Amino acid sequence: MSNLTVLAVVSEIFPLVKTGGLADVAGALPAALAAEDVEVVTLVPGYPAVMKAIERAETAIAPYESFGGHARVLRADAGGLDLFVLDAPHLFTRAGGPYTAPDGTDWPDNPFRFAALSQAGAALSLGGAPGFSPDIVHAHDWQAGLTAAYLEHDPRARPGTVITIHNLAFQGQYPAGLLGPLGLPDAAFAIDGVEYYGMIGFLKGALAYSDRITTVSPTYAAEIRTPDYGMGLDGLLRARGMAVNGILNGIDESVWDPAADAMIEEPFSLATLANRPANKAFLQREFGLDPDPGALLLGVVSRLSWQKGQDLLIANLDVLDRIGAQLAILGAGEPALEQAFLDAAAARPGRIGARIGYDEPIAHQIQAGADALVIPSRFEPCGLTQLCALRYGALPVVARVGGLADTIVDANPMALAAGLGTGLQFSPVTAEMLGATLERLARLWAEPDVWDQLIENGMSTDVSWRRPAAAYAKLFRDLVAERRRGGKPSIT
Ligand code: ADP
Repeated sequence: MSNLTVLAVVSEIFPLVKTGGLADVAGALPAALAAEDVEVVTLVPGYPAVMKAIERAETAIAPYESFGGHARVLRADAGGLDLFVLDAPHLFTRAGGPYTAPDGTDWPDNPFRFAALSQAGAALSLGGAPGFSPDIVHAHDWQAGLTAAYLEHDPRARPGTVITIHNLAFQGQYPAGLLGPLGLPDAAFAIDGVEYYGMIGFLKGALAYSDRITTVSPTYAAEIRTPDYGMGLDGLLRARGMAVNGILNGIDESVWDPAADAMIEEPFSLATLANRPANKAFLQREFGLDPDPGALLLGVVSRLSWQKGQDLLIANLDVLDRIGAQLAILGAGEPALEQAFLDAAAARPGRIGARIGYDEPIAHQIQAGADALVIPSRFEPCGLTQLCALRYGALPVVARVGGLADTIVDANPMALAAGLGTGLQFSPVTAEMLGATLERLARLWAEPDVWDQLIENGMSTDVSWRRPAAAYAKLFRDLVAERRRGGKPSIT
């Protein structure tokens, strides 16, 4: 197998900057691909957290003018990652989140910040850094979406281009008047370019120009070709046909390892499952829940947005009462939902505990201590928390959408009879179906032998990056081979 070099372009990367699963993927995929003989160097913005983490740096692209200030690209090691860092203080040296100001609103210059990232990605793709010449440029989400557009409108020979959609809900749309200021030619403002209903679409452009489109589960890859899930891009995605692939995410087994997790009360594995209840007791203490080992303890670790469907859980508080379940929720997002969970906790002391905010250790503690994890997403490109739950022995209760449908085996009667099943799925995604499924869960909880089998099945499931990394490596190699043949696609 020949060695392949990939330039990844991404706006967040674990453990340096994370707002969601995108960062987890960007952080874990390089090491997994190394095992496939694919070398990945990742271009990220030089946010303060990234600049602080840099251990060794050299200049890869000397200072140049970029959207009203000086930028340069560094090649750097940080947190075990091999990075290119776009050092552009006028764009990235600021307090707040990667995309938002401290008051929570989007930075007004986001189109320029991420156009700068994409331009640096295009420059690196075209040999801008001496000694680096990637076979593939792998862009992630709308923030890196213009990479393929800049390459398309550059006469020089380019590497193969791949865009991965982590969430089609975020598309990066901006007024048409920005075309020139963003450094795109008039020709780019076309139906087979960045034009999107009279606007500039960063992701739209990537979907039109990239050689391959991937998203993070096979079911989501199918769903986004339909008007219900396609967010206006389903027609284009249908037209791209076999260029669209679904490759499941994995999780980083060194970050999510219940046998060696310093954030949890008592490490455990399938072989030492008797240690797990100490984590449940800890969680009950931390969340002010009654110290009852027999109570069915539900966990939630989630952004609180319409997508995640946690309002459906709020609509089922009476069902929780009826089945005697407890609930420990960690989440942040829409204020009304945050308040609804705080109110629910106040009204049910000892039964519901809520933490509002983003907290990595508590996320691990919920996975380690809860009996089941509830994920009622209305759509879910892949989802990572259900994979963590499988590994940590919490039974996932999931909506049958996207990656949730692809990763959890529903414990229906036939599956149970065959000794299979790793969780519960429900569809349609309504409050009534979630309620019925929570009752189904309570019935399983009352049968410890069956429950233990499901937990064992879950903990034995391969949720690592091994298989996904092999799938990415194959896709990259197929694309390189196709381009060598002169663009004739191979259906493999
Ligand atoms: P999304 O990226 O749509 O938010 P994913 O399930 O793909 O959803 O990834 C979510 C990631 O963020 C997981 O690693 C999860 O543990 C983490 N996470 C979500 N909410 C919180 C929170 N409030 N505190 C800590 N970690 C969180």
